[in-house]
Amino acid sequence: MTDNHNPANLSSPAKCGWLGALLIGLLAFGLAGCNKPAEEAALDSDANGYACRDCKAKFFTARTVFPTHCPDCKKKNIDQVVGFVCPADKQMTVEGRSRSSAKCKQCGATVAGLGMPQKSDLTAWGATLKTAAEVTGQ
Ligand SMILES: [Zn+2]
Ligand SMILES: [Zn+2]
Repeated sequence: MTDNHNPANLSSPAKCGWLGALLIGLLAFGLAGCNKPAEEAALDSDANGYACRDCKAKFFTARTVFPTHCPDCKKKNIDQVVGFVCPADKQMTVEGRSRSSAKCKQCGATVAGLGMPQKSDLTAWGATLKTAAEVTGQ
């Protein structure tokens, strides 16, 4: 379970989305398949959240889109964000992944437990959905 403390592992592509199910289903035929424990599923997300260090823009993209620059100022100084989940009130506080802890937006406690922010969490945080064209320049 040490993986929980390493945000880099949270972006593993081995997920069970429809595309993943197709690929993994072919590769892992006869193995465990896609029956993930609920605990692992909680680390999955339907979106990638980012914050711009220059203009402070908050945005998120579809799970399959990995931005290379800020949609507003077009600079590359963007930070992926993660969620810190408070054990007391289950509130998710969204912060840059370079942080090792966050202050719970609900009760103010210092929280170090990581979770993956979902679209709804990112929207509540103030981020807006951007398309690949807006954030990858392709
Ligand atoms: Zn920016
Ligand atoms: Zn709290």
